[in-house]
Amino acid sequence: MTADRIRELARRSGFELAGVAAAVSAEDRSRYHEWVAAGRAGKMSYLTDRRAAVRDDPRNLLPSARSVICAGKLYQTPWPHSTRFDDTECAWISRYAWGDDYHDVMRSGLQRLEGLLREEADAPFESRICVDTAPLLERSYARLAGLGWIGRNTCLINQAQGSWFFLGELLVSLDIAPDAPPPDRCGTCMRCVEACPTAAIVPGQGLDATRCISYFTIELRGAIPEEHRAGMGAHVFGCDICQDVCPWNGRAPVTDDPAFAPRQFAPRLEELAAIGEEEFRTMFRGTPLLRSHYSGFLRNVAVAMGNARLEKFRAPLERLAASADAVVADHARWALEEQVPRGQYSS
Ligand code: SF4
Ligand code: SF4
Repeated sequence: MTADRIRELARRSGFELAGVAAAVSAEDRSRYHEWVAAGRAGKMSYLTDRRAAVRDDPRNLLPSARSVICAGKLYQTPWPHSTRFDDTECAWISRYAWGDDYHDVMRSGLQRLEGLLREEADAPFESRICVDTAPLLERSYARLAGLGWIGRNTCLINQAQGSWFFLGELLVSLDIAPDAPPPDRCGTCMRCVEACPTAAIVPGQGLDATRCISYFTIELRGAIPEEHRAGMGAHVFGCDICQDVCPWNGRAPVTDDPAFAPRQFAPRLEELAAIGEEEFRTMFRGTPLLRSHYSGFLRNVAVAMGNARLEKFRAPLERLAASADAVVADHARWALEEQVPRGQYSS
């Protein structure tokens, strides 16, 4: 079995990128631990608890692993980037969350790949599928497998196809000659650093998740730090800015895979502010949006409405400010009292 043959099987399984890395300790594991120790992971306990040590080596997930097959699935669709979108009445949802939950899409693709490998392998082998719920430094292995380099924005970037990829791995007990990592092509570019509204990309140190809009809107429970709320703009789930401005995405291909077509492209903030919990679950069933929980989602909507500074949002914000949920009520009050003082609205 060769890496080229794996690429062919991966292509037949629906992946645009694939490569092979050796299943050995992650060479940048100490950097990861330093990042965690510096508090950059915020309250994301799945990055800081015992699973942090498991990430050091794929053999902690599959003791017999000899190779890591890394696969990338393109999810960019032909819809505008957030940096080209300025409808203040609408919410921005991160591109990766527009369609079906990528965990399911990636897992079924990796299962297909696993099946094809079993048909071709000379002997039985052990394997384990990893989508980002398994503790593995997946971008590090994807880089080693030749899929791309890790950009200053911390995304994996492929020279020809950009960074709009979901990553998944198949750990196998097969010995496969590994691919080689490509050079880092960020060079002197600082576009993502300069474009980040909350200064979350620290050159030389990576991402400070505790300043990142994606972290605030998806992972953080409770209050969003006040000093960062204005920088969130219209984002109610995730943030794409540092990928939107990356020059390597300028000519990135798009996919016509219906799994990633938007179910809700830039929904209207006023409608989102009025949905009940059951409606929230129905509207976003099968998408990553449920991860923010109803309370967190309404909190984010309140902040986005405050940032829009539209008079028409006063009434829905007043309703949210009366919510029994203290976090939602607090953020709606912030939007009303501090961000959009009466008389200073846009029309
Ligand atoms: S996702 Fe947004 S907030 Fe986070 S680093 Fe990128 S541009 Fe900054
Ligand atoms: S915007 Fe520039 S610095 Fe940032 S990831 Fe892309 S190429 Fe690298």
